[in-house]
Amino acid sequence: MLIVGVVLTVALFLVPSRTAGNVEQLGYSQLKSDIAAGQVTSVAIGPDGNISGTLTNGTGFTSSYPLGLQDPQFAQLLDQHNVQVTTQPARTSISSVLLNLLPLAIVVGLFLWVGRASRRQLSGLGGIGRSRGKVFDTERPGTTFADVAGYEGAKREVTEVVDFLKQPDRYRRAGAVGPKGVLMVGPPGTGKTLLARAVAGEAGVPFISVTGSSFVEMFVGVGAARVRDLFADARRRAPSIVFIDEIDAIGQRRGGQLVSNDERDQTLNQMLAEMDGFDPATGVVVIAATNRPEVLDPALLRPGRFDRQVVIPLPAQRERRAILAVHSGGKPLGPDVDLGVVARGTPGFSGADLANLVNEAAIFAVRAGRQVIEAVDFAEAWDRLLLGHRDSSNALLPDEKRAVAVHEGGHALVAALSEHGDPVAKVTILPAGQALGVTQQLPIDERHLQSAGYLKDSLAIRMGGRVAEQIVLGETSTGAADDLAGATDLATRMVREFGMSPTLGPVGFGSRNPTYLGGEEVRSRPYAEATQRVIDEEVATLLRDAERRATATLTDHRHELDRLTELLLERETVNGAEVDEILGRIPGQPSPVAAVDHTTTRS
Ligand code: ADP
Ligand code: ZN
Ligand code: MG
Repeated sequence: MLIVGVVLTVALFLVPSRTAGNVEQLGYSQLKSDIAAGQVTSVAIGPDGNISGTLTNGTGFTSSYPLGLQDPQFAQLLDQHNVQVTTQPARTSISSVLLNLLPLAIVVGLFLWVGRASRRQLSGLGGIGRSRGKVFDTERPGTTFADVAGYEGAKREVTEVVDFLKQPDRYRRAGAVGPKGVLMVGPPGTGKTLLARAVAGEAGVPFISVTGSSFVEMFVGVGAARVRDLFADARRRAPSIVFIDEIDAIGQRRGGQLVSNDERDQTLNQMLAEMDGFDPATGVVVIAATNRPEVLDPALLRPGRFDRQVVIPLPAQRERRAILAVHSGGKPLGPDVDLGVVARGTPGFSGADLANLVNEAAIFAVRAGRQVIEAVDFAEAWDRLLLGHRDSSNALLPDEKRAVAVHEGGHALVAALSEHGDPVAKVTILPAGQALGVTQQLPIDERHLQSAGYLKDSLAIRMGGRVAEQIVLGETSTGAADDLAGATDLATRMVREFGMSPTLGPVGFGSRNPTYLGGEEVRSRPYAEATQRVIDEEVATLLRDAERRATATLTDHRHELDRLTELLLERETVNGAEVDEILGRIPGQPSPVAAVDHTTTRS
């Protein structure tokens, strides 16, 4: 990737909705991952998509199936993990049953009954079923790149895989090494599976797919055996694609946890061995997908394994428009529907959310007895998705969006106006991972040493988000938790390790990293209780100073903060040069304003 440098990740965490008591409230995606982890015993699905059931630990839970969503994966998951399913009969009117329950009933019903029956037949033909339990599916997708809207860069990156799969012999003759493994990284619903299928479709090769979690269940040794089966099958059908969804389920860092997971380690080792074992000229390419690349074992990323990575972020406005166009293609749209406007109103939606939105809008139109989908249907669908089933999308409510814009604007301005801060590369209110917005700074040079001034500025920059919320909105939110944790951690190191506290003096107590002894966390503390108190006070002083400096900077530049906030709300992403422009300076040049500002606020 092009970005070399510090990514200041600014996380506004949504407080998870797991509640206390005997009945847990699970979001839909949480429910799915619990099912995938084998933690769900039974579910009962109600007429409105209400779901209740029990976990394997005996706890009851409730959840809901997003209205209008057609998620064949759900039924597949229930089936794969032997969850007992009951559908409750509807007591409401016939029409609402048809509208609400129908998609779900069809999906679950067809899959469970027809699916089971046909698989029984298929297994006789040596199809999907195999001796150690069926875990993978083989098909020849008709999907092409045209079905994947936007993401031109990602498509270009996988084009080489298509070329290779079309003619592995040509690579062999030329003595060239073809691609072996591609890791697709991005949030759920961004089209990773879709793109992988399109690679198979474009190359016209079999697509053998499996979910990471299906390897690691039940008995030790089964996972490794399944990996062997999978690769044996892929080689037999070569050229072919092996697609491993949720690879983090098997590919987590080994030995990272206190309790080791033998089954997972064995499965992972087997997979590494398989990938190392086959000659690239065989014509098998492994594509894996994850939304948690940070937990992957580094061994997976070594040359000859998943050494190519394709990042698939949430779609930007233009891409959202293209995705909406793909999904409403063939559906009659009213003259008042402007997909550009819909795209602008849906930051944070994934491709799956957008597909869902179009589908919902179509349902609203049908309900209203109309043949065409009108703007009002999109508006209603949008309300429903955001307000009714917030779990099913990453989308923000308007006031949250404003809070994120203010927060990120605060980080960016303090960064741009601080003496030692790295230049701002971009600010965005497009969510990425857990973060609802990100301010990214790029250092001019790669630094190996950081001065006390640089670290103090960095504390102030971290405070900038929360301070901006306080100044503009009059109160702070949960969104700054990560910033505070990061700042506290840094300030503590400055005092404890770097001797940067005048009161405590030039002492260094080494790393704070705890060590573990027999599972117990042990922190070394080579100093007296009284010293601890001084450390705590010094840390608090550093943090308060940083907060004061951020407050002074943002109060002085309140006007610019407001302008940046508006620009973010309008455009979602603003680059560093534009931030400079707002500050009335030539992009890239330090501003005299900043210098003055800094002297007045120096701690
Ligand atoms: P992921 O594997 O990243 O979780 P999927 O590939 O399963 O996401 O995407 C789910 C659905 O969302 C797709 O089947 C498709 O309908 C829709 N979708 C996602 N991204 C796109 C896109 N770029 N273009 C068109 N449809 C998309
Ligand atoms: Zn922040
Ligand atoms: Mg997927």
